[in-house]
Amino acid sequence: MIDLHCHSLFSDGALSPEELLAKARDKNLLCLSLTDHDTIAGYTELDNAAKGSSITIINGIELSTRWKKYDIHILGYHIKPTVELAQLIEYQNQVRTVRAQEIGHSLEKIGVEQAYEKACMLAGHTRIGRPHFAQVLVNEQKTKEVSTAFKQFLGRGKMAYVPTFWMSIADAVSGICQAGGQAVLAHPLKYGLTRSKLHALINEFKEAGGEGIEVVSGAMNSIDIHEMAGLSLRFNLLASSGSDFHSNSSPVSLGCQPSLPANCTPIWDDWAIKQGAL
Ligand code: AMP
Ligand code: MN
Ligand code: MN
Ligand code: MN
Repeated sequence: MIDLHCHSLFSDGALSPEELLAKARDKNLLCLSLTDHDTIAGYTELDNAAKGSSITIINGIELSTRWKKYDIHILGYHIKPTVELAQLIEYQNQVRTVRAQEIGHSLEKIGVEQAYEKACMLAGHTRIGRPHFAQVLVNEQKTKEVSTAFKQFLGRGKMAYVPTFWMSIADAVSGICQAGGQAVLAHPLKYGLTRSKLHALINEFKEAGGEGIEVVSGAMNSIDIHEMAGLSLRFNLLASSGSDFHSNSSPVSLGCQPSLPANCTPIWDDWAIKQGAL
């Protein structure tokens, strides 16, 4: 199995890159890509841990972009740490921090004191995200669990949702391409788009130079998977697959997402993947 989408402590995941690698080894994965949100800070630890291992590590990232009123995620694979990419990451980091401060202000209005500071403590680094605020809301007993925190407070249109000026799709895709990478549209069904909007998004992504689409993302039913495989064929995009694993409470464990339908072309077909893991 191959897993091209997961998160570590360097963004909103619960495990260190080293712990993720240990999990990947346990499951005999052939290939793993760490795709933290808007950061490549986990690479060094992952590469060191993977030295001498038979698992192929692909340098990945998941960039947040703004498209119309939606937050769209673009994955990048095989990226090199270029100056341009560092600038894009720095921009995202600033936007993320300003947004977090605004989310903090909104949550203070419902009685969560020092919400921003508490979320920063949980994040432990600068890539502070909504999941950290969701955990603060759970800790403060404002909601039962992380998913209800999104439904009640942090999701699109809710009281603590802050529209964010993430980079554009064009900037994300060209940043990934300039860094020698391949851009993939992440989890197309997670945005709540109508089919016509989704097709418009894919067209724009392709025009920008996007090469792939995540046909399998985490827990998906076979109807949705086959629809996404159909989109990969219709729009001539390579197919990708990842668990979007964040923690042991994620719906799907590392590398355990359903398999890719046989009618689409895996993005890793022409990658050099070591075959000795099994
Ligand atoms: P951010 O990048 O700060 O906007 O946070 C986005 C992250 O929040 C996603 O990558 C998911 O990990 C998490 N997330 C988004 N929506 C939900 C939800 N409804 N329930 C649980 N986690 C969510
Ligand atoms: Mn996440
Ligand atoms: Mn995502
Ligand atoms: Mn993700």
